[in-house]
Amino acid sequence: MKNKIQIPKTIVIASHNHGKVKEINILLNDINVTAIPISVFSKKEPIEDGNSFAQNALIKARNAKNLSKQTSLADDSGLCVDSLNGEPGIYSARWAGESKNFNLAMSIIEKKLINIENKNAHFFCALALVTENNKEYVFEGKINGKLTFPPRGNKGFGYDPVFIPENKTLTFGEMAPQEKELISHRAHAFNQFKESIIVK
Ligand code: IMP
Repeated sequence: MKNKIQIPKTIVIASHNHGKVKEINILLNDINVTAIPISVFSKKEPIEDGNSFAQNALIKARNAKNLSKQTSLADDSGLCVDSLNGEPGIYSARWAGESKNFNLAMSIIEKKLINIENKNAHFFCALALVTENNKEYVFEGKINGKLTFPPRGNKGFGYDPVFIPENKTLTFGEMAPQEKELISHRAHAFNQFKESIIVK
């Protein structure tokens, strides 16, 4: 990209998900950008009624920018299962219910796949950036893999314990966060983001 996007040293992360905020901070470490969670400004979450990861990421990033008046970055991500026509997809968080019970969400998937051999799946991440002057950008990343049951490992969050990335034997739940962040959907989206920006 010829004209890089200028971003400040401190940006707002439009996520209330602690697991994600932690991973995003690791991913921003090497460019010396500090991420403040949106919860510092407001606990209210916008309605994510977009039809795609990119649309939902933009809804969250615009909301964070409007509340904080600062450059904001939002991640919208989820697990897409081939044999379930891409579900839970953009509804990945909702399958865990109000209590965010991912053991429940993983067991729903396990039941739906009980007699299905194809357990291929991928994680997808859309990263939306809204700058102080309301310029909008989206970066996307994906990692293929397959699902395994019962869940294994407690190092990650969400659906990590049932996902084995391509060419690996451990689930994301069993991997150290630094290992996951070399290959994850979020890392791929962040790499594109980092290549496109310059820190002011
Ligand atoms: P979002 O906050 O609306 O983007 O919700 C995405 C949901 O997808 C999360 O709550 C997780 O359940 C799931 N998800 C996204 N990324 C990951 C990941 O890296 N590991 C495990 N689950 C993930």
